[in-house]
Amino acid sequence: MIIRVADLEPEGLQIDVPLALGPLRSDADEIIRVEDAHLRGDARRSSRWLEVRGRLTCKAEVPCARCLAGFQVPVDRTFTLRYAFATPGGKDIEIAEEELDVDFLEADGELDLRLVASEQIYLELPMKPVCRPSCRGLCPVCGQDLNLGACDCGAGPPGASDHVLRSIEPEGA
Ligand SMILES: [Zn+2]
Ligand SMILES: [Zn+2]
Repeated sequence: MIIRVADLEPEGLQIDVPLALGPLRSDADEIIRVEDAHLRGDARRSSRWLEVRGRLTCKAEVPCARCLAGFQVPVDRTFTLRYAFATPGGKDIEIAEEELDVDFLEADGELDLRLVASEQIYLELPMKPVCRPSCRGLCPVCGQDLNLGACDCGAGPPGASDHVLRSIEPEGA
């Protein structure tokens, strides 16, 4: 769904749409699959800005930072974004101090809500998503998924607590 600023009525626009979001890429160049994305909210404008308030829900599948297995993170994010209209000719415009975060948009421009939604997903996802708190990750030496059992290389689970180490019985003992 695309909002054309010039077409926006004074009373604003109600938003209640499912969004088809293609796979996104994380900063670490990992693929993030998105399912069931839905955006609800509204858009309204003044002579100086466009404001979009919304609530985005979806399920995002991300790779675990420890074991690399994909798992789903529920996303439910409420946001308010304000886009100031850039003045033609590139003249500096005065921005009130509390508006320093604002993005800019042409007054006759358009806003793709899929891009807005994608950005909100990036903001919501943890930097290092972990599939579960007890995830043991991969052995740094042989690469075995230590959630499936201890590996044979003897390096043991990285960063595992004493409790975890004690709970692993040596094979054949
Ligand atoms: Zn994991
Ligand atoms: Zn190993």
